[in-house]
Amino acid sequence: MTIKILDNETINQIAAGEVVERPASVVKELVENALDAGSRQIGVEIRGGGISLIKITDSGVGIPAGEVELAFERHATSKIKTSGDLQSIGSLGFRGEALPSIAAVADVEVVTAAEGEASGTYLLLEGGKVTKKAGQARTQGTTMSVRNLFKRVPARLKFLKSLNTESGHVSNVVSQYALAYPEVAFSLTIDGKENLKTSGKGNLLDAIIDVYGVATGSKMMPVDGTQQSWTADQGALDVRVTGMVGAPELAKTGRGYLSFFVNRRWVNSRTLAYAVEEAYSGLLMTGRHPVAVIDITLPPDAVDVNIHPAKSEVKFRQEGEVFRAVQKAVRQALTQQMPVPRIDDTAAPYKAMPNYRIDQLWKESNTPAPAPPLMESQPPLTASLPVLRVVGQVMNSYIVAEGPDGLYVIDQHAAHERIRYDTVLKQRQVKKPEVQGLLEPATLEVTPRQDAIMRSCLERLSDFGFAVEAFGERTYLVRTVPALVAGDNWAGMLKELLDELSGEERSQWEERIVASIACHGAIKAGQSLSDEEMRALVRQLEQTANPHTCPHGRPTIIKLSGAQLERGFGRTG
Ligand code: ADP
Ligand code: MG
Repeated sequence: MTIKILDNETINQIAAGEVVERPASVVKELVENALDAGSRQIGVEIRGGGISLIKITDSGVGIPAGEVELAFERHATSKIKTSGDLQSIGSLGFRGEALPSIAAVADVEVVTAAEGEASGTYLLLEGGKVTKKAGQARTQGTTMSVRNLFKRVPARLKFLKSLNTESGHVSNVVSQYALAYPEVAFSLTIDGKENLKTSGKGNLLDAIIDVYGVATGSKMMPVDGTQQSWTADQGALDVRVTGMVGAPELAKTGRGYLSFFVNRRWVNSRTLAYAVEEAYSGLLMTGRHPVAVIDITLPPDAVDVNIHPAKSEVKFRQEGEVFRAVQKAVRQALTQQMPVPRIDDTAAPYKAMPNYRIDQLWKESNTPAPAPPLMESQPPLTASLPVLRVVGQVMNSYIVAEGPDGLYVIDQHAAHERIRYDTVLKQRQVKKPEVQGLLEPATLEVTPRQDAIMRSCLERLSDFGFAVEAFGERTYLVRTVPALVAGDNWAGMLKELLDELSGEERSQWEERIVASIACHGAIKAGQSLSDEEMRALVRQLEQTANPHTCPHGRPTIIKLSGAQLERGFGRTG
C-alpha cells in the first residue's frame, strides 16, 4: 500500500473517537463552550440517554453569522491564536476539535445569534456536512441540538452502557460544572423530567446543596489556604486552594464525591485525590472516601492543560507544591473546624493494612484486600468446617474456638456477612424476600446521579424487598424494606448502593444488592457477643455453602494448627 493523507471525513472520525467517547463527552464539550461564551444560564436537555437528543442552550456571546460554518471546521477556534498561547490557556476549549468531532458522529443543529445581530443563524449538519443554512430569529446566545449520536458508528454504540447509566454520566458532568461555576444557573432535564437545577447565586454552598442536598451541605466546612513557594529553577509559585470539605461522617464507599477544579476546569487527578485523603488520615475508616469540592487557582503557565484528549487531566509543573498546598489547606480546615477529631473505627470491618501503600490506595474499594499474613504456612482448609467449640471472644471482634486439630479464630463480621449473604440468595432463589413493612412510608431524597439509577432499578430492588415508588422531584416513597436490614440504617445503605450501581454493568447489579444487604445490619467488629450468640453464629457459619470467605473474598476464619502451636512453643522442631 502507498502512503496517503486521509480525507477530512476520516480525519474527523478519528478525532471524534478520542473526544467523543459517550453522550456525556458531548455534554461536557458543549457545556464548556457555553461557559467559554460567558453564559450565566445553561440549560441541558437529553433524551434516550443522550443518544436521541442532547440540547444545550446558553445566553453567551453567540457566534457571528459569518463564522458559524467555520466553527465546525477542524482546528477552528476563537480561543487561541499562536502556539505561544498554549503556554497559558485561560479558556476551557482551545483546540477547535469538539464541534467537528461531534458533527462527525451525529447530526447537529445550531441556532445562534451574536451581539448586535438583527437576526440569528440556523445551521444543520448531517454526516459532517452542512445540509441547511438559514436566518432564524433568536436572542443573543447559542442552542446546539445533537441527534442520532453514533448512528454512523455502530461499534461505538455497542460500547455504551444502559441508557440510564449514560444519563447518569451526563448528570454527573452537569453536576460537576454546577459545582465549578456556582454563579451560573444550570438546569438538566432527562426525558422531560427535571434532574438538576441550580440557582446560580454564586455561592459554592448553595451549589453543593442544589447538587448533593441539604443534609450534605450542612456538614461541609470551608477550605481556604494559599501556599507560597520558591524554587531556583521554577521561581515563585502561589497556589490558592479553596472549596469545601465534608465532615468524616459523610464519607462514601467510592471516590465519586471528590471534585477537583483547576483554574475552574474539572479534572481527574490521582495526586489531588491522594492529597485530600492524606489530609483525612486517621479520620476515615479504611475503604471510605471523603466528600470534597476543591478549587485550585494557580498561574495558567504553571499547569499544562494540553495533555489529554478530553482535557480531563492536567499536568502541574510543580506537582509536589500543589500536592502540599491541597493537603495542608484541607487538613487545616479539618483540624480547625471539626469539633473533636477522633479515630472512629468501631464499625470498621477490616483494618488489615495499617500502612496502606499508594498502589493499594488506588485499587477500587471493593477489591478484596489480601488476607493478612497472620500465620505462616497456614494449611489449606477443607470445604466444610469441623465442629467447633467456642472458647471466647477477643477484642470484641474475633471468636476464638477449638477444633479437632487446633485453634480457630473467626472474624465475627465477615462470618455474619457470609451467613446473611447465603440467606439473601436463598430468599431470592425462591422469590420470597422476607420484608418488613414500615408503619409510615418513608421518604428518601436522592442526588441527581442517584436518581437516574434509581429509576431503572426500582423493580430489581423490589425483588429483594424494597418497595420503592417515585414521589416527586428526586424523592421516593419507601413502603417496605428487607427484614434483614430493617433495624439498620437502610436509607443510608440504599443511597450508597445507588452510588455503587451507577458505575456498574447491569449484570452486576443483583450481586451488588445482595452484598449490600448482607453487609448492612451484620454484626460489627467491636460488638460484644454472649456465648449463646457466638455459638449460634458458628453453627450458622457451618451451614453455609462457602464458610471460609466473606462475600468480598476475605477470610472469615483462620486456623493455628496443633502442630504450629507445638512448633511455636519449641516442643517439636
Ligand atoms: P474550542 O472550544 O476548542 O475553540 P470548539 O470546536 O468547541 O473548539 O468550538 C469552535 C468555536 O466555536 C469556538 O472557539 C467558539 O468560537 C465557537 N463556539 C462554539 N460553541 C459556542 C457557543 N456556545 N457560544 C459561542 N461560541 C461558540
Ligand atoms: Mg470547545
